[in-house]
Amino acid sequence: MNRSALISVGNELLCGRTVDTNAAWLGGRLFAMGVRTASVHLVADETADIVAALQAAAGQADIVLVTGGLGPTDDDLTRNALAEYLGVELEYHPELAGRIEAFFSTRGLSMPARNRTQAYVPKGAEPIDNPCGTAPGILYQTEHKLIALMPGVPSEMKAMCEASVLPQIRRRLGGPVIRSANLRCYGAGESSIAQMLGDRMRRGRNPLINCTISAGIITLQMIASAPNERQAEFLLAEQRAELEKILGPLVFGTGEQTLQDVLGRLLSAQNKTLAVAESCTGGLVSKLLTDVPGASQYFNFGWVTYSNKAKIEQLGVCTDLIEQFGAVSEPVAKAMAQGAARKARADCAIAITGIAGPSGQTEQKTVGLVYISVLNNEKCQVHRFHFPNAGRELVRLRAAQTALNLLRLELTI
Ligand code: AMP
Ligand code: MG
Repeated sequence: MNRSALISVGNELLCGRTVDTNAAWLGGRLFAMGVRTASVHLVADETADIVAALQAAAGQADIVLVTGGLGPTDDDLTRNALAEYLGVELEYHPELAGRIEAFFSTRGLSMPARNRTQAYVPKGAEPIDNPCGTAPGILYQTEHKLIALMPGVPSEMKAMCEASVLPQIRRRLGGPVIRSANLRCYGAGESSIAQMLGDRMRRGRNPLINCTISAGIITLQMIASAPNERQAEFLLAEQRAELEKILGPLVFGTGEQTLQDVLGRLLSAQNKTLAVAESCTGGLVSKLLTDVPGASQYFNFGWVTYSNKAKIEQLGVCTDLIEQFGAVSEPVAKAMAQGAARKARADCAIAITGIAGPSGQTEQKTVGLVYISVLNNEKCQVHRFHFPNAGRELVRLRAAQTALNLLRLELTI
């Protein structure tokens, strides 16, 4: 058993109102287990269409995963379609009704009558517990087929799939245990990283290393296959240590960690506070920092000093400096960081001043020129960058990420 087909049910997916992220996620999880997805079917909330998709999917795959259409409303028809496809009746499960009622009563609500439909399961199939919502999933298994119906809401689907569906698939697959782990990198492009890893990225190798890039962050996914879990974890740990040695400071984290997560941990661990003064990034660094819950422990002040006046009045930057060197200059970046740290009484500061474009450039100072100043206690450094002129958004994002990364590196030394 090693082929799957995925079905995503919902009118909203067909008219483009919602992008089908469920199939993408499921395809990825199955791939990591060594199961190839043969097809993805997008279907409307119509019983006949769902039945046709089940026929097509089951015709080419032995694992069929369906998401959506398990809710309590009239357009939720997936359970009926499975019953029709299997040629069986829907059976009422009083214990499911009890669980759905309990879901509402623990929230101080009474169960709407419609939710009773969610207690029906096609004969011969079994309900799957839903840890996050009302709609139970449905699992149908024979010796050669596994069909699982899961809710459409991505968070509910993922929780149910990880807890109940993937373990069933793993059990049926037998064979080797597959484990994966990520290393997150910043500061080099995909091709330089691939160059540094050389033969280690060869297809068919164990562990396999996949490289993806999203918003400037590179994720190296290591996938190890071994006869048992302990050996798979050992292979991953060994591979991770080797990659960290080769890539050094380019590696900033693991799993799904972001630069701001890692920086936040470092600041907390060192009991340091941070102030931020931004010009061309307009608050993006502060936004990224406060994406992390609990950031108030270390992030205390953030200024958007977009005008010269703001830099002078709020941060105490000398008028002379701006007149002599211009607002986008090394001395001004430094004075901004020092002013921010002083005013906020912070241990660390980040300051950014640059030209995000498309206008505002001069002959000497072109779009993409950014000065980033990083202060740690008494030490204050300024770095000059010329980010590719690939649009205002990208210049701003790179500047903000690079600033977070520079302070991370400063605190890791
Ligand atoms: P349903 O379980 O069909 O009631 O779906 C509930 C909600 O989950 C929908 O309104 C969508 O917002 C979302 N959803 C359903 N299917 C998908 C999918 N394939 N990808 C992403 N979101 C989805
Ligand atoms: Mg729906």
